[in-house]
Amino acid sequence: MTVFVRFAPSPTGFIHIGNLRTALFNWLFAAREGGRFLLRFDDTDAERSRAEYAEAIVEDLAWIGIRPHVTLRQSDRVGLYDTSADRLRDRGLLYPCYETPDELDRRRKRLMGRGLPPVYGRDALKLSEDDRRRLEEEGRRPHWRFLLPNFEADPLQPRRTIVEWDDLVRGSQSVDLASLSDPVLVREDGSYLYTLPSVVDDGELGITHVIRGDDHVTNTGVQIALFEALGFVPPRFGHHNLLTTVSGEGLSKRSGSLSLRTLRAEGYEPMAVASLAIEVGMSGSIEALPSLDALAARLDLSAVSQSAAKFDPAELDRLSAELVHAKPHGEVAAALRGFGVPEAESEAFWRAVAGNCARVADAAAWAGIVYGAPSPAVDLAEEDRAFVRDALDRLPEGPFDRDTWKTWTNRLKAETGRKGRALFMPLRQALTGLDHGPEMSELLPLIGRERTLARRP
Ligand code: GLU
Repeated sequence: MTVFVRFAPSPTGFIHIGNLRTALFNWLFAAREGGRFLLRFDDTDAERSRAEYAEAIVEDLAWIGIRPHVTLRQSDRVGLYDTSADRLRDRGLLYPCYETPDELDRRRKRLMGRGLPPVYGRDALKLSEDDRRRLEEEGRRPHWRFLLPNFEADPLQPRRTIVEWDDLVRGSQSVDLASLSDPVLVREDGSYLYTLPSVVDDGELGITHVIRGDDHVTNTGVQIALFEALGFVPPRFGHHNLLTTVSGEGLSKRSGSLSLRTLRAEGYEPMAVASLAIEVGMSGSIEALPSLDALAARLDLSAVSQSAAKFDPAELDRLSAELVHAKPHGEVAAALRGFGVPEAESEAFWRAVAGNCARVADAAAWAGIVYGAPSPAVDLAEEDRAFVRDALDRLPEGPFDRDTWKTWTNRLKAETGRKGRALFMPLRQALTGLDHGPEMSELLPLIGRERTLARRP
């Protein structure tokens, strides 16, 4: 059996790191099993779905390195859902209901007031042909519910019916279908809610594993029943924990700042985002892995914790910086060219500044400092200014290389008596405008004699 997984976002907004987590669990699982990955847009809600968001999702996944083998949208497949819905109707498994949301709400409240679970009592099954005709004449349109297989002969007498599955993440799981309302599959306007299209697609396309957030655990009980009603063998399921902020809020509310769009624009490394998305809810340390293959090798669904995973953006800074520090020059050469770093010095420049860049884009500021005219962020005290002026008169002869800084500062130590911080800091401040940064021995040859002299305070 070839593994076939899917990631099924609704294109109603930009995806955030929590959505990425679901996509990645599927992608990495398929990668490890030599399987395929379907990107399915759940866009049956025409009002909220937008083509721009679908495009953005494709781009954002590609940034991480996820390139689906197949992409499709549910809005192109409505004919299939109609056929399946008709098959269920023909067998009495999809039945029309006429209650308004208000009526349903009142009923739910009444049940809860009596300490009973707010399960739909299947009153619509008691309607006669005449009742239905009358309701339709009043202008009511039916919504359609799936008759859950939780009874022996009489649907008005539901009984305990356990659906069980061996969850890839959570182990043995079960849902009692008698504790659930028959789910609405079709709205009054004939459009489909998520449940039926999802099952039809997974069944028709032969999806073998459904890995998704644990907010879908109850749906799985219903969907297994629906797979079976439609004659499909249900796939295997895995439900991973959801991401929350450090204070425990769900991510969707704050997805703006954590959307992949924003993280990319802010210059985070895609593998930092991917590593954190996967590792945050797993036992073991969180480290930046260099590639999706390396992350796939680390994936262990059974090690994913069952409680919510708290996402700390500070971790993202740390992981991203680690990856940038270790980045080979070849991967940043084009960016450095864009920042105006001369080709011949590009490698030496990256060697000098990489350790001081949390994002590749930070190298632009260092390029400005080396090759431009840095605007000093620190004011030199009068005596330091005098020292620097004097020091510039004592620069070693000959071309600047990695030894120049040492030769120069040794000479200054011997000739001026300054040492330690009092010696090094004013020089750094005068030459870079800052009191921290890369090794001066690496920077000095890049700044060169001419610019060094031009920084006379
Ligand atoms: N569109 C659904 C969601 O985003 C998909 C759930 C599923 O994976 O089945 O929640």
